[in-house]
Amino acid sequence: MTANFNARATRVVLNFSHRCALSCEWCYVPFNTARAQRRVVTEVVDRVASLGFQTITFGGGDPFQYSYVGDLARRAKAAGLHVHIDTHGKSLTQSQANTQLVTKAIDIVGLPLDGPSSDVHDGMRSAPGHFDIVMKRLRWLKMIGARFKVNTIVSRRNVDSLAELATHVRELAPWRWSVYQYMPLGPGARVFAAHSLELAEFRSAVSRVRERLGAQGVSILEVADKDSRRSTYPIVHHDGSVFVHSKERADALQPVCSIFDRHARQEIDKACGPERPAAVTRYLPIRSASTG
Ligand code: SF4
Repeated sequence: MTANFNARATRVVLNFSHRCALSCEWCYVPFNTARAQRRVVTEVVDRVASLGFQTITFGGGDPFQYSYVGDLARRAKAAGLHVHIDTHGKSLTQSQANTQLVTKAIDIVGLPLDGPSSDVHDGMRSAPGHFDIVMKRLRWLKMIGARFKVNTIVSRRNVDSLAELATHVRELAPWRWSVYQYMPLGPGARVFAAHSLELAEFRSAVSRVRERLGAQGVSILEVADKDSRRSTYPIVHHDGSVFVHSKERADALQPVCSIFDRHARQEIDKACGPERPAAVTRYLPIRSASTG
């Protein structure tokens, strides 16, 4: 039977799972795996393109901690992939080389912003001084004309400041503001008691955000409750191991295959469905702009 392409996963999240300079307590990435090898990661990128995916999101431990991230991004772009990189910003130096990279080879750069002040944001990220770094990077990305996205994790710790954060984000005018309900997954599930947030409370906070953004600003908003991301994109580690959110356990990642396996695409298609409609809009305008 021929699969309907539109019902397949279109995006891969490639996580560098060796280490990260931050240690956000709710992070789902199981760090302390073997170091990333440039040759293998390059082959993973090639394989993602050859398996018919349209978009690659580089994330996990910061991609900019690797000197060859630019080459990976350019290679992915040359292979026809939309390139999205999520970074905590500490390693994203405001150099001429990175200016070229983020404006030419990367379609979207995502940075985290979890509160309207250092008190809230730095507390969420367990990283004193991080709020100031992120704000500096976001203003720089705006100044150089890069397409950037703000990522916010919402838990019971910061939910009350979400509306105030909306005012800051509206001024930054990112391409997208992704607002994610805290999802207890992988190592991040151990802090469930401290961060869990009822869906009704999340939705209520999002309603206040919509009001604060206003009719014009609300078009940047992309909302994802904790269950909406399940069974959408595969997560690929830098060594090629593929994981998905487990169907049996909401808080677990389930190994699927290696991306290098002969039947990797079939295995991934059995476990993953299409991208969330809200997330598709991040990439569609880029595609139509580049294809005329
Ligand atoms: S959430 Fe991002 S910045 Fe935080 S530890 Fe995980 S990969 Fe690093």
